[in-house]
Amino acid sequence: MSSKKSPQTLAVQAAENAFRTAKPVSTPIYLSTTFHREADGSYEHGFVYSRMQNPNRKILEEGIAQLEQGDRCLAFSSGMAAISAIFQALKPGDHVLLPDDVYYNIYALIKEVYAPWGLSYDLVDMSDNKAVKAALQANTKLVWLETPSNPQLKISDITVIAQLVKQHNPQALLAVDNTWPSPVLQLPLNLGADISIHSTTKYFGGHSDVLSGAIVVKGHPEFTHQLERIQILGGAVPSPFDAWLVSRGMQTLYTRVNAQTETAQQLAQFLDEHPAIESVNYPGLESHPQHEIAKKQMPNGFGAMLSVLVKGDAQRAIEVSNRLQLFTTATSLGGVESLVEHRKSVEGEDSPTPENLLRISVGLEAFEDLKRDWERALVTG
Ligand code: PLP
Repeated sequence: MSSKKSPQTLAVQAAENAFRTAKPVSTPIYLSTTFHREADGSYEHGFVYSRMQNPNRKILEEGIAQLEQGDRCLAFSSGMAAISAIFQALKPGDHVLLPDDVYYNIYALIKEVYAPWGLSYDLVDMSDNKAVKAALQANTKLVWLETPSNPQLKISDITVIAQLVKQHNPQALLAVDNTWPSPVLQLPLNLGADISIHSTTKYFGGHSDVLSGAIVVKGHPEFTHQLERIQILGGAVPSPFDAWLVSRGMQTLYTRVNAQTETAQQLAQFLDEHPAIESVNYPGLESHPQHEIAKKQMPNGFGAMLSVLVKGDAQRAIEVSNRLQLFTTATSLGGVESLVEHRKSVEGEDSPTPENLLRISVGLEAFEDLKRDWERALVTG
């Protein structure tokens, strides 16, 4: 009997990895959905099947957990998938408290998906501690903060609200959407929060080319276990390529966010003094109503997001955004390129966003160029 392999078999084997022991400096992308099992039934590195865990996802999760100073990070295929997993880990009958200006798709998610599924919710001004205290109910299981908030950049005092929540019910969880400040500027888990959430689509990825999300938990092993089950059984995990892209972005996160923040602070100050601007929402301005709280919980800077109210109506604000040349008119944030967006027309009629508000995501371009662009766009007539 010939031991020669048929071309069909050779074709399969020809593409097998002959470089398992090569030592690449940059991390390879592990596209394999399945992993070799040893003769004794074990898995040398613990990887079995990619929905359950994958080298690229593990590298990403461990990196984010370290930066956020949490115990465990779970990565998802989008920020909304991560947020959905948190709501899913609650029980029908639980009550959730959300900011009245929460990212509008989170509001849509709870209203359209999780309220019919049995969660109840209330919206409250999270910059008003008394209002937060008064809104806590016997069955409140989760309090959600977004600070700075989107798109009005209101600040919530994480430490004070964490105390209020724990005094009310030690089992209740405080979650902070830390997408905007990123761990470079704010560490919610060190300020008393239990959960920090990210749309890693934004600053972690940093290049507007990957959709993904992450949950970081401190303590709460049972809740974490439930999230793990939702992650691997529900399967809304990032692909290896997506996890790799976000990990690559993470390597320059600090440099990018610090540079973008410095430019945003300068731009906020410039626009604040411009006669064609009614007001600027930016926690780094001394005139911001919660500037002192922001200074305390964002010691390294106030982020690269701001919003402005243009003097005039919605039409005038849209006109200004269209005149800008270095700020692309587009949704999203956190990339290396500057973006501008008229929010009211995106969020819909029932949104509390003022009609003349433009939201700005400051990129890595030079401040002088961005300033000139605004000067030109704001000229009237
Ligand atoms: N949280 C915040 C603050 C956001 O701005 C966004 C998206 O814009 C999300 C969550 C949702 O993230 P994703 O678009 O990755 O699902």
